[in-house]
Amino acid sequence: MRFLFIIILFFASCTSSPQGMKLDEWMENSGKVKVLSTTQMIDDLVEAVGGERVDHLVLIQGEIDPHSYELVKGDDEKLSFADLVFGNGLQLEHGASLRARLEKHPHFVGLGDEILKKEPQRFLPIDGVLDPHIWMDISLWAEGVDVIARALTRQDPEGREYFAKQAEEMKAKMLSLHKEIQDSFALIPEEKRYLVTSHNAFNYFTRAYLCFEGWESERCSAPEGLSPDGQLSPSDIQRIVDHLCSHKISVVFSESNVSRDSLKKIVSCCQEKGVGVRICHKPLYGDSMGEEAKNYLEMIHRNAEVIRNEWLRN
Ligand SMILES: [Zn+2]
Repeated sequence: MRFLFIIILFFASCTSSPQGMKLDEWMENSGKVKVLSTTQMIDDLVEAVGGERVDHLVLIQGEIDPHSYELVKGDDEKLSFADLVFGNGLQLEHGASLRARLEKHPHFVGLGDEILKKEPQRFLPIDGVLDPHIWMDISLWAEGVDVIARALTRQDPEGREYFAKQAEEMKAKMLSLHKEIQDSFALIPEEKRYLVTSHNAFNYFTRAYLCFEGWESERCSAPEGLSPDGQLSPSDIQRIVDHLCSHKISVVFSESNVSRDSLKKIVSCCQEKGVGVRICHKPLYGDSMGEEAKNYLEMIHRNAEVIRNEWLRN
């Protein structure tokens, strides 16, 4: 009950429209700092910290893959107009045109790159590169709040105290939800806590909420790599089928903006072997939000709820 109450409080405090401000509003001469963020997960933190002193906009809107996003008509204008641009960094935004434009911006801040300088031990190397999906661990993403407060203060020094206060409030909300989700997964038996998703976006989620004795990489698995590309080899499928069999996993989770084809192939391969595996009918939100999760806290809460409920049913 307490968990539900806190969740309601969090969501009531997140009143922004699904994709931040409208473009024409953002471009009005308001005297506020004009902030552009590559993803909605970043924009929600900017809104919380910047509050009444910023105008904020999301570049990659809707359920679009941020890994491979390339600039479209109008993006260059937004990037030129922004006083400050936040990205995820850690090579999440690796579309060539966007990456080149971000590198050229005089006030670009990669949240992940900045957190990495402070706490490198908290980042997960996967197949030789650092996993960029750091928003999946609320306590790690909360470090980005301080990065945003510092960058906003550089742009608007008179707002220093305001940004610091807003940042503290947001971090307290985030860390409280983090703890609530950890506690809720402690009710799930250890042998059920094996997460299989479409692409490799849930390592930080798994470490934060499903591992109670340190990072256990086998608790998180996906047929597609850190960036969903749909290029599956028979060995990728066999690897997941073997994983499902060895840990007796009976449900896999699709993601809202990734094709379910790879999971369908795995399920059909399992059926041929007489192994019962199904795809959860509710997709998770990995790299973007959607109808049932319109802000960052809703996104992580909903993912946790879908996974937990599915495991409790089995
Ligand atoms: Zn991803």
